[in-house]
Amino acid sequence: MKTRDRLRIAMQKSGRLTEPALDLLNRCGLSFRQSRDKLFLFGEGEPVDLLLVRDDDIPGLIAQGVCDLGIVGRNVLNEFQLTAPGLEASPLSELRSLGFGRCRLSIAVPSEMDYQGPQQLQGQRIATSYPGLLGEWLRTHAVNAGVITLAGSVEIAPKLGTADAICDLVQSGGTLVANQLRETEVLLESEAVLAGPLTLPVDERGDMLELLLKRLDGVIQVRESRLLLLQTSRATLEAVTRLLPGGPQPTLMPVAGQPDQLMLQALCAGEVSWRQLEEIKKAGAREMFVLPVEKMLA
Ligand code: ATP
Ligand code: ZN
Repeated sequence: MKTRDRLRIAMQKSGRLTEPALDLLNRCGLSFRQSRDKLFLFGEGEPVDLLLVRDDDIPGLIAQGVCDLGIVGRNVLNEFQLTAPGLEASPLSELRSLGFGRCRLSIAVPSEMDYQGPQQLQGQRIATSYPGLLGEWLRTHAVNAGVITLAGSVEIAPKLGTADAICDLVQSGGTLVANQLRETEVLLESEAVLAGPLTLPVDERGDMLELLLKRLDGVIQVRESRLLLLQTSRATLEAVTRLLPGGPQPTLMPVAGQPDQLMLQALCAGEVSWRQLEEIKKAGAREMFVLPVEKMLA
């Protein structure tokens, strides 16, 4: 195959992962020119282009070398590794987990069933779009069950009488409840991941990939981060510092004309709640600000 000098990322054309994936890439400083067919988006600043496809096709495109990277659910990636024809060892790897598109692959049974454990699935028919992942789980639990592979609408199979249980993606559980089903076993905790080949390219694409991974790490890290600013007197500094949400050591700055006062700046790893702020204030802090962090380069 002709080698490319531009990095090519596959992502979902339209679906749950499309918006958050584009947003993430934008935050990494990538922008794209819309092409007329909208299947291929040309990267404007950096040498990185996008291929917009069905999510199920993403692992195969990476395995074939058509794309260098892909943004896809862990469920789709792992299913591919287990079922892709002609693959001895898995050729793909999960380079980063991206924190959106969270859901779980679970087994659900009719709500009235008195479920005691995996052995109860013995001899039952289970409908799923994930025969690889379900088959692996059944083997691990030494359960002999019939796996019925369906492309969609898995949740209505028990009502139609074509299956006794299902194995499907669950987010809130609303769909299960609406179909009188109850979640019993979680097979996989999933979220969107950056997938790539096991061995990364060692040319210009490799350099760009390394740069992209660094930016991605920065974006993922700051996405939840908050910068906390406050004033405290030297006398209450210790009590205030003890209450700060986890993170690196805070920075202290003098306040002009007030030798007893200090300005404190702390990077917090997650949300800072009203309750936490109130506690910190009680310990002696004032003039408190919680700011979102936009970019960070450590
Ligand atoms: P297409 O095949 O056309 O690209 P799709 O219908 O397979 O689309 P979506 O429903 O958009 O895909 O889901 C994409 C991914 O979003 C799933 O593979 C999964 O990782 C994640 N996801 C998060 N929550 C859910 C949920 N409640 N149901 C289904 N998928 C979910
Ligand atoms: Zn799909």
